[in-house]
Amino acid sequence: MHELGILNAMVHTIEDVVREEGAQEVERIVLEVGELSGVVPRYLEECWPAARYKTSMEATELDVCVVPGIVKCRDCGRVFNAMECDMHCPDCSGQEMEILSGNDLLIKEIICM
Ligand SMILES: [Zn+2]
Repeated sequence: MHELGILNAMVHTIEDVVREEGAQEVERIVLEVGELSGVVPRYLEECWPAARYKTSMEATELDVCVVPGIVKCRDCGRVFNAMECDMHCPDCSGQEMEILSGNDLLIKEIICM
């Protein structure tokens, strides 16, 4: 499980940003997690209490928004949801696809007090 490592790195990044902005406390962080990013949203939520422990963000809430993994088949051009179709093109069963969305993990919002 590498989610805790991701969150630890994120806490440091956000602490730096918040310090530069001169904000007091972070109330909430909103993360966008793509279904194809390899990060499990549920694990992020489970790891959050450990990641924020003994940091300046002990009271900060974490919201995770899941971005659907939308891909385009390289063979027939069909656009579909890769998770719903089990990573196969529903038209031609092709497995070569171009990722259109859902490949990233990003900090969408940092809400300060
Ligand atoms: Zn196809």
